[in-house]
Amino acid sequence: MTNKTKILLIYTGGTIGMVKDYETGVLRPFRFEKIKERLPELSQLDSDIEHISFEPPIDSSDMNIEHWKRIAYSIEKNYHKFDGFVVLHGSDTMSYSASALSFMLENLAKPVIFTGSQLPIGDLRTDARENLITSIRLASLKENRKSVIQEVCLYFEYKLYRGNRTMKIDAENFQAFDSPNYPVLAESGVHLKVYKEYLKQTQEEEQLKIFTEFNPNVAFLKIFPNITESFLEGILNIPALEGVIMETFGSGNAPTSNWFLNTIEKAINRGVVIVNITQCMRGFVLPNKYEAGSHFENIGVINGKDITSEAAITKLMYLLGKGKNSKELKISYEKAIQGEMS
Ligand code: ASP
Repeated sequence: MTNKTKILLIYTGGTIGMVKDYETGVLRPFRFEKIKERLPELSQLDSDIEHISFEPPIDSSDMNIEHWKRIAYSIEKNYHKFDGFVVLHGSDTMSYSASALSFMLENLAKPVIFTGSQLPIGDLRTDARENLITSIRLASLKENRKSVIQEVCLYFEYKLYRGNRTMKIDAENFQAFDSPNYPVLAESGVHLKVYKEYLKQTQEEEQLKIFTEFNPNVAFLKIFPNITESFLEGILNIPALEGVIMETFGSGNAPTSNWFLNTIEKAINRGVVIVNITQCMRGFVLPNKYEAGSHFENIGVINGKDITSEAAITKLMYLLGKGKNSKELKISYEKAIQGEMS
């Protein structure tokens, strides 16, 4: 019997799995079976590593509910065989996928760590090596035979974050992600420092359950100065629309004109669920701080508190998928389900 931990890499695509053709300068996916040849360091880790790949690998701009399901099913199928899972994913929509998976994987008690890179694995200056190796090490951490990390996380550029608290904040720098409203869970320096006080702790191990029936009939509505009635009407009357993430100013404020509130109220009365989140990167929706935000409570708008846009929209798809009525949905939405809001 070996004491090595078993880690499953799930390769979905993105820059991390590319190599540069030095003659043409074009990035192309490399055959992931060759990962150990590209990164011989992997065999020095104290983990047995297996991998599965999306065929073909995709740019994360193409991610959708079907792909999230595929990741969830792969984890469910291999849950008892592996100690942890590392999902290699393009950085562009990684925060959406990490948020979606945090809701799909109910009762998760093992690490699922999303990572990727800004430069391809075959680039001399790549950040892929560190991101991948440390993600595997973090996914392997155990104490008293239990995984130290028992939730969906995102590791990038020396920092481990709660996945559903992250957003991509930079398209150029290696430090591409941030978790504006929740502390970093671990940092990789000379030593690996894990801040256990911020990790999710499952008390009793319940059976992993996956819920994949996400409802895609949702939209973002970003409020801006001079927004017109016809624009608002147009969005809120999209056929089949069931839920909207409304991105408001500051601590949850929006125009106070009657037409604005009436249009929102009419949509809610037709059964469209509306969630108020802030356009600011940090901070909360505080509905009673200003008059401009105080009417929303009375007409049944949901308070999204300090949730990110990425977690907000995937949580809405998840709760609409559960078929809750608007009252139940409001109650469920305003509570943290997977640590996604304070
Ligand atoms: N466009 C790429 C993707 O998200 C960028 C990356 O991998 O970082 O798939």
